[in-house]
Amino acid sequence: MKIFNTLSREKEELNKKEIKMFVCGPTVYDNSHLGHARTYIAYDIIAKYLRYRKYGLFFLMNITDVDDKIINRAAETKKDPKEIAIQFEKAFMEDLKTLGIDSIDKFARPSEHIKEIIDQIQRLLKKKFAYETKTGVYFDITKFADYGRLSHQNTEELKKHRIEPDHTKKHPHDFSLWKKREKTEMGWDSPFGFGRPGWHIEDTAISEKYLGQQYEIHGGAIDLVFPHHEAEIAQMESVSGKKPMVRLWTHTGFLLVNGEKMAKSLGNFVTIKEALKKHGKEVLRLFFSMSHYRSPIDFDENNLKRTKNTLDTIYNSLVVLESIDKGKDPETEIDSEVERIKSAFIEHMDDDFNTPYALSSLFELVDLINKYASTGKKISHGSKGLIETTLLEICAIFGILQDYAPVKITGEIKKLVAEREAARTKKDYKKADALRSKLEKMGITIEDTNAGVILKKKS
Ligand code: AMP
Repeated sequence: MKIFNTLSREKEELNKKEIKMFVCGPTVYDNSHLGHARTYIAYDIIAKYLRYRKYGLFFLMNITDVDDKIINRAAETKKDPKEIAIQFEKAFMEDLKTLGIDSIDKFARPSEHIKEIIDQIQRLLKKKFAYETKTGVYFDITKFADYGRLSHQNTEELKKHRIEPDHTKKHPHDFSLWKKREKTEMGWDSPFGFGRPGWHIEDTAISEKYLGQQYEIHGGAIDLVFPHHEAEIAQMESVSGKKPMVRLWTHTGFLLVNGEKMAKSLGNFVTIKEALKKHGKEVLRLFFSMSHYRSPIDFDENNLKRTKNTLDTIYNSLVVLESIDKGKDPETEIDSEVERIKSAFIEHMDDDFNTPYALSSLFELVDLINKYASTGKKISHGSKGLIETTLLEICAIFGILQDYAPVKITGEIKKLVAEREAARTKKDYKKADALRSKLEKMGITIEDTNAGVILKKKS
């Protein structure tokens, strides 16, 4: 399997079977928007696919609960920063659940890892990669020759960024490890005085604890490359003396609105809750999967509506499959076609998780079903099972078709669906409605869509 590495700007082989992955989680000071969902859905699909391919994966995410944005929001709303963090972490967890993001093994909060953070800063001070001033502890960029490698910037370019302007720093681009603060503010006692950690050290302290000093995959959206991930490399490799801290640096493209990043600060955002209410989780997941995780995506309501039709077509294909008559002889021709499609799907996903190409394999499978249904040919019981399993397996990686109600569980359901179709054809809507109610009582929702009838589990 090959994955694009931001560091080398090349696709590189994932040459281990046990994988540790760290993805930067949200700063919990507000509700998450659809841009966040874009990134977290991408990593959920990546995690589900790695597990499908039998990689042993440990997936860690931090929840930034100590940050200036949280402290500012607390001051605005006259609340305690802890209360703000708890409130929005809860909202984030609900969003993950409703979006079907269930692949993360462990969440970690900086507020619960202050000891590890202080310890890492002390080691950096001891090795002279960091220095203390009146305002805090800073990382000395000049001591780390590789600073700028991840974001592909030279020293001159780096100097243009004025990170945390503070005249007490040795260099304008040195970043803070510890911010000294008054006792009245949120903070902790430390050997360098009362205060709180910088953002970057929170993540390396957490990743060192749970993943070690070197691991396979680190992720986040493209805006995190600099300074966040650049700083993480500087900290961790200076502490450990080992390179590389991370084998493969992966970054998602932005969700855009009229060419601009969807962002709280720009006011052009749609909350996850609003989007879920309007489109449902599976439409959103399919919509994002239609673009490569590294590509930017334009938020487009019309495209989302079209995605609903595409999703219905996939749901409908299983109803169509069930309607195809069973023949006695195994259809070897169809079996090998399904195997070919499955191999193509794997080939696309193994190539840096190329979800748009992988989806084209899924649509090939849907077309295959519809083609067989229209020819009136029969399919053996075994072939039907192979098609259904393959289709559901692929869909599970994208997190779609999770509401599919398999008609095959009882012949009675299948009979009722057919009777309802016949009643509708004869315009006997009373009978059709009665049959719908009967199905609902059995836990099946029947929907008439542009793509045809679809069946879902009653929620
Ligand atoms: P934040 O809470 O702002 O630190 O963001 C959490 C994660 O979501 C980070 O990886 C961000 O880069 C990512 N993110 C924020 N906005 C967008 C967007 N419009 N598109 C894709 N990812 C985003």
